[in-house]
Amino acid sequence: MQLYNTLGQTKQEFVPHDGKKVNMYTCGPTVYHYAHIGNLRTYIMEDVLEKYLRFEGYDVKRVMNITDVGHLSSDADTGEDKMLSGARREHKTVMEIAKFYTDAFFNDCKKLNIKYPDVVEPATNCIAEFINMVSVLLEKGYAYLQGGNVYFDTSKLENYYVLGNQNEEELAVGVRDSVEADENKRNKSDFVLWFTKSKFDDQELKWESPWGYGYPGWHIECSAISIKHLGEYLDIHCGGIDNAFPHHTNEIAQSEAFLGHKWCNYWFHVLHLNDQSGKMSKSKGDFLTVSLLEQKGYNPLVYRMFCLQSHYRKPLVFTYDSLDNTAISYEKLIKRIQTFSPTDGEFDFSSAKPFIDSFESAMDNDINTAQALTVVYDVVKSKLNGNTKLSVLAEFDRVLSLNLIQEKAEKETISADNPEIAEIEALIEKRTVARKNKDWATADAIRDELAKRNVVMKDTPNGITWSFKE
Ligand code: AMP
Ligand code: ZN
Repeated sequence: MQLYNTLGQTKQEFVPHDGKKVNMYTCGPTVYHYAHIGNLRTYIMEDVLEKYLRFEGYDVKRVMNITDVGHLSSDADTGEDKMLSGARREHKTVMEIAKFYTDAFFNDCKKLNIKYPDVVEPATNCIAEFINMVSVLLEKGYAYLQGGNVYFDTSKLENYYVLGNQNEEELAVGVRDSVEADENKRNKSDFVLWFTKSKFDDQELKWESPWGYGYPGWHIECSAISIKHLGEYLDIHCGGIDNAFPHHTNEIAQSEAFLGHKWCNYWFHVLHLNDQSGKMSKSKGDFLTVSLLEQKGYNPLVYRMFCLQSHYRKPLVFTYDSLDNTAISYEKLIKRIQTFSPTDGEFDFSSAKPFIDSFESAMDNDINTAQALTVVYDVVKSKLNGNTKLSVLAEFDRVLSLNLIQEKAEKETISADNPEIAEIEALIEKRTVARKNKDWATADAIRDELAKRNVVMKDTPNGITWSFKE
């Protein structure tokens, strides 16, 4: 399997450190607000990567942190803790909003069929591990204490900018953020490991440490949590592209200084989802969430499909028009699959094999989900018997998680259990056909019949939904 590795900036053969075991770490959300659908693009594509590794027989252990302390509004270690400003905005405590938005995040993940990681660890659970790591970095001479804070000394490394060939000047924190520089730093690129002094005395969560009462920097949490649960060798570290610098660059610096050897072999970065005015961000105020899409009548899996239609290493622009197109394609696809019957023939492996091979070669080529989706359509349009089609699609859906098969099963169960519902669905279907054929008389007669049965219909981008009048 070929994966693009930000470390080296080339596509590389994926070879785990330890045979079939894969250690995978994902930067989790900063839980001061709802995740926007840009954040969720990153988690969807990471989910597909994880599921494909499992599909290929790897034994994956995936760890995700929850950032509930230390992520400041500026990458230059200045500004306010995002959690604190979130708590203030809602007149709640930091821990209250952390709980609320962590639950909201996993709720969104569930709707998008994103698997819950094997380990989820909030940063505030691991203060002892952070303190230990910072102590070792100080002992080894990679860190220094200045003005009450502990900093990592990037000048101690031969090459700090390992994840990119970007120009140092352009990337240097502080220059990029055009904010006042932290006078305590020996080098512009140094970063905080532990804060005891900061401009914001009202920081809500602080802990005792050998350097005074304070709180951890953001970067240390991912290094320490990953090492705590996955050990000294990490196979894949994932995140959105904005995390590559400085967050992941700093993680590499401190983890390798702490461990004394190379830490992570593959860096998987998902490019951003943008709206027409630029990058989507939580600080923009009115941002797009899964709930908002649902309120507008979209099935969250339509958004998942929208993401899968593009390669994760290309920026993706969100518009409702393109989402509408995906909604139509999704509905058609599901309807088509619903016409296949599991009793149509025996499973025919030799005819199915070329399709499975194409699916795997698409995914082996740096997780080319757009290509993998065309293989789904090839199966649908093929001459395979119904049973084989359904089996192959169910296999692909272990990775794509678009409910290609479940949708059918769910509808069938409802209909089977309740003949009235089956009748109503049949009438709605008949009416849709009549409308398509411009047979208004039949369409209207069916509408009246449905109204008599207290059925309320709603036109949505996913087709017609209905319920009984309250
Ligand atoms: P945060 O909650 O801000 O810590 O971000 C959670 C994840 O979403 C990180 O991996 C970010 O890199 C990623 N991310 C942030 N903005 C976007 C975006 N517009 N598109 C895709 N991923 C993003
Ligand atoms: Zn991280």
